[in-house]
Parts: sequence; C-alpha cells; structure tokens
Amino acid sequence: MRKVIFFQIFLLCLISEASYAEFNTHLTSKNMPGAEFVAVKTKPGDTLSSLSARYLNDPKKAWIIAEFNDIETVTPDRILIIPSQLNNRGGIFLNGCQTVPVLAYHQFSKKSTSRMTVAEATFEAQMKYLKENGYRSITLDQFFDFLNYKNPIPKKSVLITIDDGWKSTYDIAVPILKKYSFSATLFIYSDFIGGQKALSWDQIRQLAEMGFDIQSQSKTHRNLAEQKKDESFNDYIANLEKEILHPQVLIKKKVGRDCRYLAYPYGSTNSLVRAMLKKHGYLGAFTVHRGSNPFFVNNYMVHRSTIYGDYDIDQFRKNLSVFKKIDLK
Ligand SMILES: [Zn+2]
Repeated sequence: MRKVIFFQIFLLCLISEASYAEFNTHLTSKNMPGAEFVAVKTKPGDTLSSLSARYLNDPKKAWIIAEFNDIETVTPDRILIIPSQLNNRGGIFLNGCQTVPVLAYHQFSKKSTSRMTVAEATFEAQMKYLKENGYRSITLDQFFDFLNYKNPIPKKSVLITIDDGWKSTYDIAVPILKKYSFSATLFIYSDFIGGQKALSWDQIRQLAEMGFDIQSQSKTHRNLAEQKKDESFNDYIANLEKEILHPQVLIKKKVGRDCRYLAYPYGSTNSLVRAMLKKHGYLGAFTVHRGSNPFFVNNYMVHRSTIYGDYDIDQFRKNLSVFKKIDLK
C-alpha cells in the first residue's frame, strides 16, 4: 500500500498541470512499452476484469489490480495504478515467505455429517468465510507456477480440492463454489466414475468446461505405497503402472484434458510411486500432510489439509495460513 501512495504522490507532482486522463494516454503500455506502471482514470462500466484485459492482456490478472490498489470492485472516476508485472515470484519478503493452503474435501451432504462428509451449510459457511476474508481460489497451473518460481499469485491464494468423484460434489459443492466465484480441482479415481453415487463423465465434462481442473486419484484408490501380501514385486510394479496410467488415458479420452497431477489415495507415497509418476509425465502430486506450502515445497509431496465434517469455523481457519515467518537473523 505504501508503494501505491508513494507512486500516486509522484504522479501528482509530475502532472500537476495535465489531467489524469491525458496522462493516462501518455503512459499506456501501447504508447510506452516497458513502462512499469500505468495510471488509469476509471470510467463507468470498467471492471477489474475489463481493465485487466485492456492493460495486462489477460482478464484473469484482475487480482493484480485489486491487490495493488487495495480494492475489491471498480468505481468510476478513480485513479488506479496498474503495474505491468509483479516481480515477487516466490512470495519472498524480508520477514518470511508466502504459503498456499490446499484444502481437501471428499463428500458432501444436505445435513448429515461424518469425518469425510461435510454438510451443505458448513461448506457454505467456509466458502463465505474465504470470500469475506479476501481469499482467492487459484488453478492448479497458477499453483505450480508459484511452486516452480515462474509467476506470482494473489497473496491470499487458496487451492480447493475435492477427492474421489462423489456425485455430491456436483449437487452440493459446485453451486456453492459458483456462488462465491471459486473454482476447484477434482481428483477422481477412474473406476468409481459412472457408479450410482459417483459423478458421470458427462458431469465431469461440464465441470471442466466451467473451469474446474480434472486430475487423478489413481484407478482403484488402492494404497499405492503398499505392496499387497499376495502380490509379487513384479505384479506390484505392473499394477502401479496401471493405477497411474489408466486415469490419465481415460481423462484425456473422455474430457479431452491432460492429466498431470495426482492426489495419493490416503496420502500415501514412496520413492517408487514418485519415480513412476515422473516417468508418465505427472508434474506434481498431493499428500494429506497438513500445512500450507511455500514455493520450495517438493512438487511430489505437496501438503494438503483435509477438512473434516465436524470442523467448526475456528478449526477451519487454522488451515488457511498464507504466510510463514522466517527469522534470518
Ligand atoms: Zn480418496
């Protein structure tokens, strides 16, 4: 915020004679390629997305304008500063670094709850809490761009994930996510899909079109890290390969999307599983090790916090840390 105020004072000094509108025409990125900032006087009808599309060539970068100017919506006749890019890729600050919470859900129900089933009203309260407290849901691509030190993401980013592929995802969670303009990543296990309590491929295609990420939680949901008693080592390897490859092929065939990420069933993994994932082009995988993720977390050991059905809002809040203090003294 201090940066914004400083820059606004700087602008005021610089253009005391000229109107903001004139100044704006001199500083647009088209007129001044390489300019670090653009000062824009907003007009009726401008939105964060429309300004982002115009000045940052991407409506999805609206969060940059919102965050830099400390606003949630655009009002007319206001001067906004639009930075041409943000440089803080890993979210590193003098006193610590940004972390990203990844929330894991499974089943939803209208009323009843269990450890793995979250009631509709509870989920609604949690999403409302995220919205009212300035959290932004990010996509898997954004998340891994952050982990790979490629692009910065919103300061209060959260990755919402839903496991298995239950039908209640579509019936209960999706309308609430839509209401708060959040998206989510689905980790489906392919043998489950099409069953009575599961999503259909048609529903999964619809969700993909709405911007949801469709990824894998193996073929059968077995514990990938454990060789079964009646399984030879060779069979274990061959079966692992099926678990990892099958959902990838099916998602590509049925949804037309690349499957590049996996959530380990029960969060269990070992070095063999991770080697196999890399062999088949997976770029990352998720455990259920509770905690938020700094950019330097291992891509194949990403932390995820399961949100249990009996969590109250305080227990939920404990899983939303977006900053880790690091004392370098
Ligand atoms: Zn699962």
